[in-house]
Amino acid sequence: MKSFSRKLLEWYNPTNRNLPWKKTNDAYKIWLSEIILQQTRVEQGTPYYLAFVKQYPTVKRLANAPLDDVLKLWEGLGYYSRARNLHFASKQIMQLHNGKFPETHAEILQLKGIGNYTAAAISSFAYNLPHAVLDGNVYRVLSRVFGIETPIDSTIGKSTFQKLADDLLDKRNPSVYNQAIMDFGAIMCKPQNPLCENCPFSSECKALQLDKINLLPIKSKKLIKTERHFHYFVLYDSKNIYISQRTENDIWNGLFEFPVEEVNDQWSIDNSDFIKKIDPQSSIINQPLSYKQTLSHQYINGYFHEISVKKLPKLDKSYLKIKKSDILNYAFPKIIRSYLENRLIFIS
Ligand code: SF4
Repeated sequence: MKSFSRKLLEWYNPTNRNLPWKKTNDAYKIWLSEIILQQTRVEQGTPYYLAFVKQYPTVKRLANAPLDDVLKLWEGLGYYSRARNLHFASKQIMQLHNGKFPETHAEILQLKGIGNYTAAAISSFAYNLPHAVLDGNVYRVLSRVFGIETPIDSTIGKSTFQKLADDLLDKRNPSVYNQAIMDFGAIMCKPQNPLCENCPFSSECKALQLDKINLLPIKSKKLIKTERHFHYFVLYDSKNIYISQRTENDIWNGLFEFPVEEVNDQWSIDNSDFIKKIDPQSSIINQPLSYKQTLSHQYINGYFHEISVKKLPKLDKSYLKIKKSDILNYAFPKIIRSYLENRLIFIS
């Protein structure tokens, strides 16, 4: 469809979504915004983008920052591997490119945490290079307008859609075109209730003609979520409290938490290995407080056992004894932050 680009650009109004990163062609800032916005809504991501630009205005400042500080600023945004990769890639830019953000698609693609979509977004938005973006918005628009039923999460689907996206790209102005198609997916061709009545493609859109709007795009794999149960031990005395850092190759790597036991439904506090390390007779163990968090692929149940002791017992080095007044300086997963927001006054 030759007129696709023309119609799209006629529809596009740069002020439709007045986002702070649209006003810059600084590749570093565009990179920050793209990583922050992966799997994150614009309203949630915008304050994080502004905070990162303020605290780390250059690649060098980000590369020189301790990872724990970067994770702390990222706290609450989820998918923490993005923050770790961002930090790692900033060091790559310092080492491989003398601190200057790379200017070719191939070099950008070499950076940790950057895939085809992000490389295309940065190289087109910052340098106007002819690389077509293909994100969830673009998959949805193309599958609906052209009636493509190939699953978007299959190898053949990915290459089919990428080829079509490349063919449709307005090579004279890839930056505007890429922005236009992403805005179009976000504003007009929304996942639910797309605005077909006002759509410039309504006369040719296959999904509209064939009444398949709610079926497209097609995904072949159904996501199966697992359920996990974390029992946290909030062990504290009048001054200090124990926390530990997650180091396993698992969710929330690098974040902090309370001493924890991950268990199945059958768990009882009487069988807890952690409780055996302390003297439960001298402690007050409240009924656990329950919190939940839903991740993209897991349901997390957190049970917080508050244990107040006169003097903290000595635990091994994997546990960190910190001042209670310092606790908010550490980056915690959302489920623990929610708990702290409600209970800090009681444990401090
Ligand atoms: S007609 Fe509806 S489904 Fe088709 S592209 Fe336009 S908004 Fe999307």
